[in-house]
Amino acid sequence: MGAIQALRGTRDILPDEVKYWQQIESVARTILSRAAYQEIRTPIFEQTELFERGIGEATDVVGKEMYTFKDRGDRSTTLRPEGTAGTVRSFIEHSLHAQGGVQRLWYTGPMFRYERPGAGRQRQFYQLGVEVLGSADPRADVEAIAIATNLLQTLGLQNLNLDLNSLGTPEDRQQYRDALVTYLTPYKSDLDLDSQDRLSRNPLRILDSKDQRTQAIVQQAPNILNFLGADSRSRFEKVQQLLSDLGIAYKVNPRLVRGLDYYSHIAFEIQSDQLGSQATVCGGGRYDGLVSQLGGPNTPAVGWAIGLERLVLLLQQLSAAPPSILDFYLVSRGDRAEAQALVLAQKLRQTGFAVELDLSGSAFGKQLKRADRSGALACLILGDAEAENQTIQIKWLVSGEQQAIAQTELISSYQQLQQRITEFRAQEPAKAAQ
Ligand code: ATP
Ligand code: MG
Repeated sequence: MGAIQALRGTRDILPDEVKYWQQIESVARTILSRAAYQEIRTPIFEQTELFERGIGEATDVVGKEMYTFKDRGDRSTTLRPEGTAGTVRSFIEHSLHAQGGVQRLWYTGPMFRYERPGAGRQRQFYQLGVEVLGSADPRADVEAIAIATNLLQTLGLQNLNLDLNSLGTPEDRQQYRDALVTYLTPYKSDLDLDSQDRLSRNPLRILDSKDQRTQAIVQQAPNILNFLGADSRSRFEKVQQLLSDLGIAYKVNPRLVRGLDYYSHIAFEIQSDQLGSQATVCGGGRYDGLVSQLGGPNTPAVGWAIGLERLVLLLQQLSAAPPSILDFYLVSRGDRAEAQALVLAQKLRQTGFAVELDLSGSAFGKQLKRADRSGALACLILGDAEAENQTIQIKWLVSGEQQAIAQTELISSYQQLQQRITEFRAQEPAKAAQ
């Protein structure tokens, strides 16, 4: 029988790559908690209706991309394609608005969309996102954007571009939609097939078409910014002013529309020119109508989501692999030494060291080679002689120096050893990062 492989559009994240994911998660946790964002965890599947109502039936996500199935109780169930709808459902279900003030939430986890897989595009992919519920203040938009840029910069990513647009109020948008349809209708047969289909269902999305002929037609289309009412315009200007105050560079892009139906006012994307065609790392905006559309009280809201596969691709290009945290690689040979080594490894870990125990039972030479490759700072060597007198050889792999010490000294000299480890890490980050 042939071996079973992962499904198309899904992939395993192996330990070498997981390092990058953990780095992202740890930086994100720090940055988000410093800004008083709290983590929320919602289910991976929900009633299909949540997404139909929350994302909009005319969108690609709901129309073509959802993993929807009947469960054994005949309920229409969908694997979540994004995180906002579930977060808002939870916000309403648990009356989080009753706590008053602003709710700043963040989440991370897998999302599912039946799409054509490629680099940075999966059927199961991961997002990290934030939702700020309960503030209509433009400062909430800008704070959210600033946290995204801070996160990306802290991870070492440069040369990212922030594109910004305003979709105005639903009324502004309706007027623009009418004008766009009037402009595009005479060109209908020249548009790509998807765009022809969108002309009646979701015409704003045509602005986003990657098709060259459609793009050329769209160049001359009416500009959404000319359809903003006075309120929408001053709000958009305020956001730009605040971004400038924070020193965050941006470009106004009147053709930026987002896939989901519920946006109003600010929409934005952060892109990298190092990702080829899947350039968007982060997308977000304001969605003042969503909470009430899902049956909750009128609640203004703004949020964004980062696609983590694309972020990992960018981090790998920087090749800034997070260093190994291993302090010791423990090798031993002979019955008595091996038994002692197992006990010692456990004691060292309880004391606070990171220790890998070689279990191979092979010749010392082979075990020492593995120690070199392990990324540990020192190799601990326990043979018959050491087992006999309860000592151990400690060999610092960076400098090559080696000495015998009492096993108990490893524990009692914890502070001094940690200090040496810190010094070696600072001296030889390249070695430690192997
Ligand atoms: P795209 O135009 O790339 O399809 P989108 O507008 O559908 O993106 P959003 O729903 O805004 O994407 O999701 C936010 C982010 O999640 C995207 O900017 C992207 O980084 C990531 N993302 C979306 N779909 C996928 C996918 N199928 N695989 C990997 N990442 C994805
Ligand atoms: Mg998409």
